[in-house]
Amino acid sequence: MKIIMLGAPGAGKGTQAKKIAEKYKIPHISTGDIFRANIKNGTELGKKAKTYMDQGLLVPDELVVDLVVDRVNQDDCKDGYVLDGFPRTIPQAEALDQALARLNQKVDYAINVEVPDENIVNRMSGRRACVGCGATYHIVFAPTQKEDVCDNCGGSLILRDDDKPETVQKRLGVYHEQTQPLIEYYTNAGILKEVDGTIDIEDVFREITNILGE
Ligand code: ADP
Ligand code: AMP
Repeated sequence: MKIIMLGAPGAGKGTQAKKIAEKYKIPHISTGDIFRANIKNGTELGKKAKTYMDQGLLVPDELVVDLVVDRVNQDDCKDGYVLDGFPRTIPQAEALDQALARLNQKVDYAINVEVPDENIVNRMSGRRACVGCGATYHIVFAPTQKEDVCDNCGGSLILRDDDKPETVQKRLGVYHEQTQPLIEYYTNAGILKEVDGTIDIEDVFREITNILGE
């Protein structure tokens, strides 16, 4: 099962992708997580990506596409995967389709997690990320057991630089301009599925499992 998560920044793609990966036993591939790991490790890719991420801009397609194509060609992806944060532009979607076509494969589902812009800034200002393992929480909707301590690894939690309100506004603009056209792209491909991202995390997941099957 090859799944793409679509939606505005903060819509809940990562939250749902983790749950999908666990239930269906497929890898969760988040390009944002890959870039953040590269930044943390001080790699050349991380240095390049950071200049765009800090401004709320997309990293150029040529820095993203090969990385994802290499990743989905790895052995653990042979029974499928859930892509979170990729594709984010039409050229990225076309490059993925072409890479899969070479293997006689295709994406099965593009799940659009629908959340209106007015909910997004609140969502993002409450998001907290663990500096150790990258786990994501929300101070109101998905709190940790102990304040500011990661349930998973005990690491400390931060507000991502790009989750500050001024950067979130920029990211939303970039989303509407460059990423939203993918909704039409995958509708035309006949694989778009819409879920309401404003309801509780577990209820969103129920909508998704209704689509993907038990
Ligand atoms: P994305 O991967 O789309 O950027 P996340 O999955 O990181 O978004 O979610 C953004 C923030 O909103 C996180 O703090 C997360 O805990 C919270 N969140 C995710 N889904 C919901 C939901 N259905 N209701 C309330 N908060 C949510
Ligand atoms: P995310 O964690 O998915 O919100 O991504 C954080 C940031 O990483 C984005 O705002 C972009 O700057 C960058 N990024 C992640 N995935 C992509 C992608 N597919 N294309 C371009 N930039 C990306």
